[in-house]
Formats: sequence, C-alpha cells, structure tokens
Amino acid sequence: MKITDIAFRKMTFSFNEPFRVAFAVIHGYDTLVIKVETDEGLTGYGEAAPMGFVTGESLDTALAIGKEYRELLIGQDPLAIAGIHGMMDARYSGNTSIKAAVDMACYDIAAKRMGVPLWRYLGGSSPELVTDVTLGMDTPEAMAAKAQEWVDKGFTEIKVKLGEDIRTDLARMRAIRRKIGPGILLRVDANQGWSVKDAIRIARDLEPLDIDLIEQPTPDWDLEGLRRVRDASLIPIAADESCPSQTDAMKLCACADGMNIKLMKCGGIYHALKISSVAEAAGLFCMIGCMGESRIANAAGMHLAAAVPNIRKVDLDVTFFAKGGQVSGGFRSEGGRCLLSEKPGLGIEIEGF
Ligand code: MG
Repeated sequence: MKITDIAFRKMTFSFNEPFRVAFAVIHGYDTLVIKVETDEGLTGYGEAAPMGFVTGESLDTALAIGKEYRELLIGQDPLAIAGIHGMMDARYSGNTSIKAAVDMACYDIAAKRMGVPLWRYLGGSSPELVTDVTLGMDTPEAMAAKAQEWVDKGFTEIKVKLGEDIRTDLARMRAIRRKIGPGILLRVDANQGWSVKDAIRIARDLEPLDIDLIEQPTPDWDLEGLRRVRDASLIPIAADESCPSQTDAMKLCACADGMNIKLMKCGGIYHALKISSVAEAAGLFCMIGCMGESRIANAAGMHLAAAVPNIRKVDLDVTFFAKGGQVSGGFRSEGGRCLLSEKPGLGIEIEGF
C-alpha cells in the first residue's frame, strides 16, 4: 500500500463556557484535520491539536510542516509506522501534534485494512471505558455546583483543575466533596501551579477527601521536586507536563506514581505505546488525557486506552464541552461511559472531507 495524498482542513471549536486552568483561560480552539489517501482506496483521518504553550506549535506551523511531510510521505507505505515516524523525526524534532495527526491516520488505515476497529487492531478485548470530566477553576461554591451538575448528568469521575494558592484550592476541594458526597471519584490537576512545600502541605490536607491522584503539582522541569512530593504524599502523584516522551517517562519512573499520556504531546499512538511500556515496566500507572481536539483525536485516545491495560485512568472529555467541526462517530457516550465504534479503524466520519 502507498500513500497517494494528504489533505488538510482547519476546524474551529468553541467552548460552551470559558475554561480556566492554572496558566490560561481558554475560550475555544482550532485544530488541523488531515486525510491520508492510499492507492488501495482506503483513507485515514488524523488530527493535530497544537497548543503553543505545550507543544510549541501553532496551527500555521503544523500546517506548514504537514505540507512538507506530505511531500516526504507520498509513495510511502502507511502500514510501516516505525519508518513513517523515522522519516518525520529525521526532518523535524518536536512538532508532536502534526506527527500525531499522521500517526493516527496511519493507524486508522491499518485497522481498516484489517477490517477491525482500532481498539481491536491494538489488541484490546472490550470497547467500553469510563472517562472523567474536568472542572475549570472558579469559586469553591461555583465549582461544587458544577460538579453536582456533572454528577446529575451521569458522570462518576471528576477531575478538578487547581494550582492557585493552596488555601483556596483546599476550600474548592472541600466544597466539591461536601456537595457530591463520597461515591464519586475525584482527581486533581494543579498544572504546575504549586511549590514543592505547598504541594506537600495540600497533599496531606486532601487525604481525608479521598482523592484518586494529584496531577503535575509542581513545575515540569523540577523532577527532584516532584520526587519529594511523591515521597511525602499518600495520594498518588502523576506527571503530565513533565512527560512528553519515552525518555522523560524513564526519568519519571523514579519521581512519580503515574504518568499522563497525551497523543498531541508525545507524537501519536506509536510513541504512546512506548511510554506506557516504560511506565508498566517500572510499576507506574498511566492515564490518558487530551487537548483542545475533536472526536478524531479523542477517539484515537479511547481506542488506545481500551487496548492497553496499564492505561488505567481516562481523561478524554473535551467533546463534552465544545461545539463545532463536522466530525461524527468514533464512540458514543452516556455520562462518562464511552462505547467505541465497531466500524473499522477509528470509526470517524467527516462531513464533506
Ligand atoms: Mg494535566
């Protein structure tokens, strides 16, 4: 099989309401959707969701490099995924979101060629998974009310964005737990917002609230600080911004209890599998998260999570917040319960593309 063309389309999505995290307020996002065509008539969809402050890319740089990759990859076999990554990496380091787009389109094609959904192609045995839903930062009362809204919609796992002063953050978590009661899983993401000392202090104060994990409490570059927090905390500590690649994953094995994989951050499913293997070998769990992306990349993450037992925590919730694009399929959801498509590949359909 040979790649005959790669087409690009920008898509715009807007959040139902502004979303606040420790370092930004986000109103919506654009993504770059790609379609890889082959000489056997099979096509694969992929998506780059560049987030400048995470991947160092913009939509325009992703498109510019995507066009170079188009020239490079026409005539190549999309099933030879290691070779495809080798060619992309030899041309540019970084630029992980456009690499993830090409990667997931190639996996889409490979699974379609096998006639199976991607979760089966990757070795999974069940199309079901449960994702959390994320609360942006607001007043404790507003966050507690929002948490209850999600619970009323059928969600059983909630991730809470924190990372401001720890007194306010603690008040937020106490208000949320008081409101929703004990049966709902709560996890926390500080997005690097705390110092090591504050992280250790709030980890102790959060213990009675039954918290599943704390994600990226401290600055991404400070692995020694992260290790100190992990050693002092009874709540598991997961790395996110500290964990873009498998080499980072290897260093993190000594500093964290788990790591958050994102396809946009690591460069796609091929690299995500490597990170999860490194983590598993060292006894760390993985979670899978997302960026401002559509059902295309979200479905790819779900197919991967359904296939890899060590990806034990799922944070693929962006489609619950955003409207726009012309993308359908991939999965169905009811509350946080997601059921992947039985159609071959990602199971994605895009109107007019
Ligand atoms: Mg995070």
